[in-house]
Amino acid sequence: MNVLIVYAHPEPRSLNGSLKDFAVRRLQAAGHSVQVSDLYAMNWKATLDAADSLDGAAGERFDPAQDSKRAYANGRQSPDIAAEQDKLRWADAVILQFPLWWFSMPAILKGWVERVYAYGFAYGVGEHSDARWGNRYGEGNLAGKRAMLVVTTGGWESHYSARGINGPIDDLLFPIQHGVLYYPGFDVLPPFLVYRTSRVDEARYADVQAALGERLDTLFSRAPIPFRRQNAGDYEVPALTLREGIAPGQSGFAAHIVHPGRDQVFASEQRISSLTEG
Ligand SMILES: Cc1cc2nc3c(=O)[nH]c(=O)nc-3n(C[C@H](O)[C@H](O)[C@H](O)COP(=O)(O)OP(=O)(O)OC[C@H]3O[C@@H](n4cnc5c(N)ncnc54)[C@H](O)[C@@H]3O)c2cc1C
Repeated sequence: MNVLIVYAHPEPRSLNGSLKDFAVRRLQAAGHSVQVSDLYAMNWKATLDAADSLDGAAGERFDPAQDSKRAYANGRQSPDIAAEQDKLRWADAVILQFPLWWFSMPAILKGWVERVYAYGFAYGVGEHSDARWGNRYGEGNLAGKRAMLVVTTGGWESHYSARGINGPIDDLLFPIQHGVLYYPGFDVLPPFLVYRTSRVDEARYADVQAALGERLDTLFSRAPIPFRRQNAGDYEVPALTLREGIAPGQSGFAAHIVHPGRDQVFASEQRISSLTEG
């Protein structure tokens, strides 16, 4: 299989650098083909602007979405953007690897997303009407591919637990896992996390490497996070709110993940109450 690692750390001798090199070796040893987009080494341009289209802004003012759409449709994108899109088309799985910086991805990686995810490629795909709101959240041009985050944090695991002060890690990563990855179609695997990085020494590094190795070995077999599909009946269109009866009493990020036991219990309770009322 083909695996693309999009990697954002400025220092090759960092913990992230070591883990990235290990990942490449492990994946290749398992027979996969690997490409790495090492964003700092590539001197990746992080800012989205009119220069992203070879024609510049089409109108009097630069329109980030419409100019992206035109450049993508006409083959007039900046070559660095088109090259990354080719890598995404090539990949069966994509790994985004980065240190958590200010509770999110480093700016250079955010800029990769903003520029590579062109209108018509990652968004604005499919029919948008009162009946259907595009191919996204489970559908889209990247459907059928897998994605996984590899993230290191200075904070402790407890700081990112359900009642931890930083907020639960699943919540912090939701905009990346659900927004950036699931939106254009990826099946998103649970993230691989290394907490409290300042305490990584040789012994702990060996454990981290072993755990990452296991996650890489199961890249194509592990079950993805069961995010709810937009166009499979759970949402009202075009309001795109959860239908009554779906995830009752829940709101926020967790409501957009299927919890099989809980959802089935509610569905059978609904059936019983409608039979009783009938
Ligand atoms: C701008 C900024 C914002 C930040 N924001 C946050 C935040 O919001 N939340 C948060 O939790 N943290 C935050 N941090 C901390 C950050 O997440 C960590 O510094 C980062 O994850 C560490 O990864 P690294 O690759 O830079 O590690 P490094 O600093 O390179 O290494 C960490 C440890 O691993 C050891 N190590 C590295 N490679 C090996 C190896 N091959 N074998 C054995 N040991 C090794 C090193 O000796 C070191 O002790 C922030 C840091 C910065 C600079």
